[in-house]
Amino acid sequence: MLASVLVATLMIAGSDDVRQPRASAVPVAAAKPAATKPAASGTASTSKPKVVPVGSAEPSSAPKPKPRSKIPKAVKNAALDYPDAPSIEPRSYAKLEPKHRYVAITLDDGLPFDERILDLLEDNDIRCTTFLLGSVAADRPDLVRRLHKSGFEIANHTWSHPGLPNLSDGEIREELRRSQKAISKVTKNQAPYLRPPYGATDQRVKQIAAEEGYQIVMWSRTFGDTGRGQTPEKCYRRAMKGVQPGDVILCHWGQDDTYEAMKLVIKQLKRKNLKAVTLSELIADSQ
Ligand SMILES: [Zn+2]
Repeated sequence: MLASVLVATLMIAGSDDVRQPRASAVPVAAAKPAATKPAASGTASTSKPKVVPVGSAEPSSAPKPKPRSKIPKAVKNAALDYPDAPSIEPRSYAKLEPKHRYVAITLDDGLPFDERILDLLEDNDIRCTTFLLGSVAADRPDLVRRLHKSGFEIANHTWSHPGLPNLSDGEIREELRRSQKAISKVTKNQAPYLRPPYGATDQRVKQIAAEEGYQIVMWSRTFGDTGRGQTPEKCYRRAMKGVQPGDVILCHWGQDDTYEAMKLVIKQLKRKNLKAVTLSELIADSQ
């Protein structure tokens, strides 16, 4: 439906303004066929004005490449409504038992965000679950949009990175809700996962998270990329030594060594015939 409305809009814009095909934000490639096709059909022998419903005219007149959503099906299936996410059973994960040789690389935080890591993951067609701070998401909606468009699953890492067990019930909810609002502005839904800052959690945090629609996701392996004296090789070895299907691997967007370590990790995963997937794919494959 949206697509046909878009095409109809394009046709109108195209016919009025052939010299400025870039008048709108629509890619040139998509605008071209819409601008030329109507002219071609106008030269047909029939003089009767043909009334064709927009929806049915579109496929034959505009063989445009459909931009397929890169968001994995399991991510879409797991997403909750926003802002009306239902309560769920308290649950937490650090590792799973998938049927396939899947692992999940999960990226946390925070500025400074090294976009080379995202380039690298995109180039290797790898989609991950990322836990973003709401304060970062609010500052960098462009970044959230890029992640979303690339098919990443964007989950909650609180607004300001506090130790949640130290907060009151109300403060915990506020941290989650404020952050989710900034993320959902782009995603329009709620990924059902919370990574508590510092991995600090307890029964109360778990219960409140569940009432807000979140499962707690910890990790079974880490790059250790926030520690002092790290090198890419150390991060790589820590993450990969003994890695197994089902592992949830933690690293961060903004650490110096993460980019170089990620290159090594990606190579090693390929060698071990392990596929990096989002959490929702890993969880769906483990049921
Ligand atoms: Zn963090």
